[in-house]
Amino acid sequence: MDNIDIKERMRELIEKIKEYNYHYYTLDNSLVDDKEYDLIYDELKSLEIESGIVLDDSPTQIVGDQILDKFEKHTHLGRLYSLDKAQSFEQIEDWINRAERLRIQYNENATDKLPSLEYIVELKFDGLTINLTYRDGSLINAATRGNGIIGEEILPQVKTIKSIPEKIKFNGIIEIAGEGIMPISELEKYNQKNEIKLKNARNAAAGALRNLNVAETRKRNLDCYLYNITFSDPDPVSSQEEVFEFLKDNGFKVYPFIKKAKSFEEIVQIINEIGEMRKKIDVLTDGVVIKINDFRTREVLGYTNKFPRWAIAYKFEAEQYTTVVREVIWNVGRTGKVTPVALLDPVDIDGVTVSRATLNNYDDIQRKKVSIGSEVMIRRSNDVIPEILTAIDVENETDTIEIKKPIHCPYCNSELFYDNVHIYCQNSLNCKPQLNARITHFASRDAMNIEGLSEKTIEKMIEILNISEVDELYDLTKEDLFKLEGFKDKRAENILNSIENSKQANLDAFIYALGIPNVGIKTASDLVEEFGTLDKIRNATFEELVQVRDLGDITSKAIIDFFHDERINEALETLLSKGIVFNETKVEKSDELKDLTIVVTGTIEGYNRKEIEEKLTLMGAKVTSSVSKNTDILLAGEKAGSKLEKAQKNNVKIYQGKELDEFLKGIE
Ligand code: NAD
Repeated sequence: MDNIDIKERMRELIEKIKEYNYHYYTLDNSLVDDKEYDLIYDELKSLEIESGIVLDDSPTQIVGDQILDKFEKHTHLGRLYSLDKAQSFEQIEDWINRAERLRIQYNENATDKLPSLEYIVELKFDGLTINLTYRDGSLINAATRGNGIIGEEILPQVKTIKSIPEKIKFNGIIEIAGEGIMPISELEKYNQKNEIKLKNARNAAAGALRNLNVAETRKRNLDCYLYNITFSDPDPVSSQEEVFEFLKDNGFKVYPFIKKAKSFEEIVQIINEIGEMRKKIDVLTDGVVIKINDFRTREVLGYTNKFPRWAIAYKFEAEQYTTVVREVIWNVGRTGKVTPVALLDPVDIDGVTVSRATLNNYDDIQRKKVSIGSEVMIRRSNDVIPEILTAIDVENETDTIEIKKPIHCPYCNSELFYDNVHIYCQNSLNCKPQLNARITHFASRDAMNIEGLSEKTIEKMIEILNISEVDELYDLTKEDLFKLEGFKDKRAENILNSIENSKQANLDAFIYALGIPNVGIKTASDLVEEFGTLDKIRNATFEELVQVRDLGDITSKAIIDFFHDERINEALETLLSKGIVFNETKVEKSDELKDLTIVVTGTIEGYNRKEIEEKLTLMGAKVTSSVSKNTDILLAGEKAGSKLEKAQKNNVKIYQGKELDEFLKGIE
């Protein structure tokens, strides 16, 4: 590949990773499993190493993802980092050798020699990082990791975790990091009681801690294991062992399995031990963290942009299991898409009984050579619904039955439409699963957030109350709800209240709730940020839409088609006539930098580049990531590199040094 191809591939990977990051970190609802994510992340990392090129916004340089405005922000007193990863034991050995080299190098000239390397091996919990702040013995704040510098304040949510002490002995100012988790037993209990099932313990914990509705957080019975001191004044410890002593002494919950190792061989032994143990414990773990024990050695090793050089994570491979496919059913989704789900002989995976697996589409069935009766390999990487990887021993199969392409909708019997790999039922008007999925989506948390309106309740509403459109939710009365099984005064009142409350909506949530093809919550927010009002979004032209960040031709066309459909417009007007009003969009765009294309590059002391870019966008500027002849201004911080050269070549106006300071003060 030449440099242009490499950059193009990098861009593709970066865009994909950004979308996955947004769903994982911001929405707590991952689009792909960690294995798939790690594969493309590693490809990007390898390309960067091979070519020496690192694009400005590469996720390999950034911790986490964007911080939501709905939370207050907390600036961490000490930075929080991600962890470097070893995918094999050899990579752990390389890491040890590097640390040892640096230690020896340091000791050559030092009088205060560093001790021999010792490692603390811990479980790598799969939940959400929490950073707790205590002042003079009292818990005064709790925050997410966010981008490592600034996190989201989630103190009320964290206070639902009973094992976190509100008072501690230590009398000073200290920040302590740990992982908020949902015990697996609690996840199962929750899923038994609730119709909307939680997909996995990681998203369940992260979603609960970043939920403004603290009652929902409380329902999930979270727990927290603490493992790091990220800031302290005065400093009470000088090794990881002492961190744990300190934590226990101050009443924090520390996971009982923590082991010290003195060599690579000992580390491997402990990892294998954890590998067995993790299947039996009540906490979801995705690996092991190995940390150098001594803090002076840590200081000498230091940090990269993204992780400490004194720690490394080893991730366990998701395990694969075999079972037999007994049946394939075809589900109809909100957009009419018909997808296959395999019903399996139940198999026990890490304490969870699995009896269904996803098959993405008909091509997927053929590619994986799956028939009814096939023995198949499945993988479950933290998600409750696993994926079929392939059929095994296809040559020797007997008594298997071919899975046929469906011709008619299994629910309404309409003839199905085939579009390349996907199959659709086009009867959007009265195919019940479509209607149900549409209303479920409308009511979901990121959309209109109508609590208590589960898929099952909606099913009953469609069957018994003949609800045939979303807007009819707003006409429901208590008497209607009494006709449904299980509805008494209190429950009916609660649902009616939630429906009523949903009338006061955020515009991005409403746009998302409409279910425009390809428009997720991120695109909906981008649209609102760009256009500000529903009318402007409805009337936007294709040319205006494709200008919006991350909007491609296909989504822009889908938005145009949606708002130009007469039937949809009528339905939208009816819906609005039920009294839906929008909260003021928090940020009005100004025109001060209108028509200017600006690029920000380099390190700008005292500022966070992302925040500068957001501010510029709010002032009407178009912010791009690369310099071209269309660029009007380059804001160049320290180590500006190739963009600065390109800007000089193209005669772009450059703000640097003092001029840059003044410009930035001007936009504050
Ligand atoms: P990470 O989760 O792999 O490791 C860093 C984090 O580990 C720390 O921030 C800390 O919160 C946690 N941790 C747990 N136990 C710990 C312990 N004992 N000591 C110290 N830290 C501990 O790194 P990351 O940057 O948060 O996320 C990257 C990983 O997240 C990826 O490798 C991927 O697997 C996953 N991810 C998945 C998706 C997806 O769409 N599936 C998207 C983004 C990230």
